[in-house]
Amino acid sequence: MSILSELDFVSALNDDTKLSIQILYRDFLSARQLKPRLGQKQMIAGVANILSRIGDEGKAPCGFIEAGTGTGKTLAYLIGALPVALEREMPLVISTATVSLQTQLIEKDIPDLIDATGLSVNWALAKGRRRYLCPIRLESALDAVNEESGLYPDELALVLDSDERMLVDGLSRAWIEGSWAGDMDQVPDQLTDTVRAALTTDHRRCQGRQCRSFQICPYFTARESWLDADLLVVNHDLLMSDLKLGGGVILPPLEKTILIIDEAHQLSRVAANQFTDHVRIAQSLGAIKTIERVLTTVRSVLPESHRIRNEVERVPGSLDLLARQLADWGRQTLEQMQGYPESEFAFQNGGSRYRLRLNDQMSLPEREGEAAVQIINRLQKILDWLKGISVQGGDEISETDAEGLAEQLGLAMGRLESIPLVADRMSRPCIEQGDARWVRVGQDVRYATQDDPTDLEFWVSPMSPAAALKEAIWGRIGACVLTSATLAHQQTFDVQASSLGLMDFSSLIVDGAFDYARQGRLVIPQQSGDPRDELAHPQRVNDYLESRVDSGLGILVLFTSWRLLMRVQELMSEQLREVVLVQGQLTLSSLLDTHETQRRDGYTSILFGLQSMAEGLDLPGDLANEVVITRLPFQPPDDPREATQAEYLKIHGRDPFREMSIPAATIRLRQAVGRLIRSETDTGQVTVLDRRLVDTSWGRSLMSQLPSFRLEM
Ligand code: SF4
Repeated sequence: MSILSELDFVSALNDDTKLSIQILYRDFLSARQLKPRLGQKQMIAGVANILSRIGDEGKAPCGFIEAGTGTGKTLAYLIGALPVALEREMPLVISTATVSLQTQLIEKDIPDLIDATGLSVNWALAKGRRRYLCPIRLESALDAVNEESGLYPDELALVLDSDERMLVDGLSRAWIEGSWAGDMDQVPDQLTDTVRAALTTDHRRCQGRQCRSFQICPYFTARESWLDADLLVVNHDLLMSDLKLGGGVILPPLEKTILIIDEAHQLSRVAANQFTDHVRIAQSLGAIKTIERVLTTVRSVLPESHRIRNEVERVPGSLDLLARQLADWGRQTLEQMQGYPESEFAFQNGGSRYRLRLNDQMSLPEREGEAAVQIINRLQKILDWLKGISVQGGDEISETDAEGLAEQLGLAMGRLESIPLVADRMSRPCIEQGDARWVRVGQDVRYATQDDPTDLEFWVSPMSPAAALKEAIWGRIGACVLTSATLAHQQTFDVQASSLGLMDFSSLIVDGAFDYARQGRLVIPQQSGDPRDELAHPQRVNDYLESRVDSGLGILVLFTSWRLLMRVQELMSEQLREVVLVQGQLTLSSLLDTHETQRRDGYTSILFGLQSMAEGLDLPGDLANEVVITRLPFQPPDDPREATQAEYLKIHGRDPFREMSIPAATIRLRQAVGRLIRSETDTGQVTVLDRRLVDTSWGRSLMSQLPSFRLEM
């Protein structure tokens, strides 16, 4: 029997490709002296099976594969997909959600596979424009550092402090000397958001091929290598940015791509964020002022008969009207909201947030004059003209000045471009398409006055990205495998498929490699209770943790909110405080280093973290002997997207708790529980302090989807 007999069932793959996959797996195993794993073989065959249908009746084959912890799924999809991609000359694009998986792929899994098998594959890591130096931005930043504000100053001189100026200076020297290639992730110093913003650019401001620094541009140099790559590693954000631009703009053409989406349970959230738009009144008014400044300069140098003169003359009047319209929108909205009860507002970063109901409207007041979209079209013509001059020169204005003005105009236009869409969605009920919409005021809404409507933001997000993804990707992609350790709900992929708008798919569930019944326990201690009791529950959590202070164990404690975490912190004894490390106190790597040192020396070490630590965190062996779930991980009820979706389902006579909240909480809980057993030799316990897991029927159904630990109560 061949090492990969499962492939015999993949009839549509040709014999050469099957053989290539078998040889690749065999060579890898023999080089690393490993034995074949059943789950890994099943997954390799599952991937090959999906890809074997490329070209069938013009349909793009897509399939879900849930592969339990310990399957070795990264290697499985690389081995299952690479020979097919190479044979068909289709680039293989792997998209991940977390930096840790991306790092594991590029630093370990891919080099290891190539090293062990001698596979000839050209591969690259693709990152967004913001993760590369823009040499044009660097020049502007240096002007600011040297306080040569130039003819057309921007805001940099005002915002860089002395440490940041020194950092910019140092990076500039490294760039000129050639010791730094412009990859922002390779800067040894901690970059502040201000420095990153000062040295990088976005698609709106970037001048692309017309740029005088195009030949040395780190982003475009990297992009060249992506186009030739057989294998490209990306993240979900970049994948979604590319889709938002139409697909195949940053990444290879979708139709020719074999796409593997790892950590696919996160795709829907990332996609919804990417398709979210907002308008900040203050920022838009600032942008309008910048545009007026740029236009004044342009007008002063343009001859009367110039072809662009008409646009330059007409825009200021329209902009003035737009500014008044935006301010009125803010005033009117504040007035409307001040009639709402306080309970309708959620607290958010020192401000307040109101979620619009599906029937609500907050219309942009109508005015005579050009609509925002027409103004943007006119501005685009002026921007194109400035960009042209910055490359070819012109009689009216120097190349450098045109470049500076184009930069500022592009940035300001970017801040206005969401207005048409956001104003449209805010202005009509959303009963049918169900967009989530909310307004954020930067302070407590009770104290906001209508005299200053600028501190207001309007947000619009698709309740679900299904429709956008259906149009953008599923009908176009060459082939796609969606995988994760946690994708299925009640053994089906229907919930995921519906949230992603994927109608036609195959599915496979591969069991993990661990013997959970032998390796772990699920403990519901006596002190557990109902976490909705906000007074008693923090005390219960604290009491339980106090009992673990002398355990000599590595413990990961997961919270669903900062509020509960902080409440428990307030209750902790001095002794407990000494062994607790809290997410956010240090950088994640420093936090984990400290935890590791404590554990190596045999001391109790307890990590406190939120949902982000429940995913992608690898704490093998004694780093996590116990995982404590303080509360079942339901999304907070005030999350505007989920709350709108719940309202939408209720209106349509459906049950949002069963259809939405339970499946999402199940995935989160399975992710959290998955932190415990990371290898065949790991043992330990998951402790759940939320009694609803055993006291309610939905809790018991949720528990039935967890790994088969021994239950102790
Ligand atoms: S092409 Fe020019 S503007 Fe665009 S990122 Fe590169 S250097 Fe910056």
